[in-house]
Amino acid sequence: MTDVQKYSYHTHNNALGVFDGKSSAEEMISKAEELGFEAIGVSNHLCVHPNMPRGVSKMFFSDPEKALDIYKRMYAELDEVAASHKIKVYKGFEVDFFPSAVWRGWFEKIIKQLDYDYLIGASHFIRSADETFLCNIYHLDRLPSATTDEQMREYLRGYWDNVKGAVESGYFDFMAHLDYCTLFELSSTPEWDDVKWDLIETMASRRQAFEINTGGIAKIGRPFPEWRICDELVKREVPVIVSCDSHDVSQIGRHFAEVEDYLAEKGCKHRFKLSE
Ligand SMILES: [Zn+2]
Ligand SMILES: [Zn+2]
Repeated sequence: MTDVQKYSYHTHNNALGVFDGKSSAEEMISKAEELGFEAIGVSNHLCVHPNMPRGVSKMFFSDPEKALDIYKRMYAELDEVAASHKIKVYKGFEVDFFPSAVWRGWFEKIIKQLDYDYLIGASHFIRSADETFLCNIYHLDRLPSATTDEQMREYLRGYWDNVKGAVESGYFDFMAHLDYCTLFELSSTPEWDDVKWDLIETMASRRQAFEINTGGIAKIGRPFPEWRICDELVKREVPVIVSCDSHDVSQIGRHFAEVEDYLAEKGCKHRFKLSE
């Protein structure tokens, strides 16, 4: 019986009525403590972009000042909750990366003013090459009905460019759910294999840590990324962390034991962990 990872750095809450968790910070932290976790990291979404879709989600910001104000208040609230608990609470973000200079400028300015412990790199958007059009993969119903297959391929390339760009940026402690778009069967076909191989090699050469996101096991019976990508990254000794991506208390540590068995079977020795 292998020891199961007793921390999760990928969790969300409903802070300020803005973020998309279902449970409060207090509920999430208490639950992690109850489960005997040694640490919990809070990684609410950082979604800021000049062309962020409007009126879709309270946590999408097209004004960096507004975003920063919310993030500061969210962290202040979190500090207060953490102070009344024994468990180690880390402050992070799950950051939607975009390659443009404008996005980088905004991001760097925001993050400099926040007292964070770690950053997770992520992509939840498909987009046009020039970033004038963004669409969250959960809001595909907002895609214009006239979207052609060729446009769709461009948008999907945008998704994978975000992921690779995030790795190459060096901003992130680990990468979230690399192939998250496959949740909606986007780029699940073999024509996207070259893009995935290229990403695997980029991550290996940079030793960019990645997560095995167990939310996928709950949703579609396999994690993000899919097992064959996990195999390749583990084989290349890329550091790995298991993430539950919990949006409510019932999801904390979900399927950790089975992923731990998988990692033991693969002889994985390189794990990602924050040091205090
Ligand atoms: Zn995510
Ligand atoms: Zn998440």
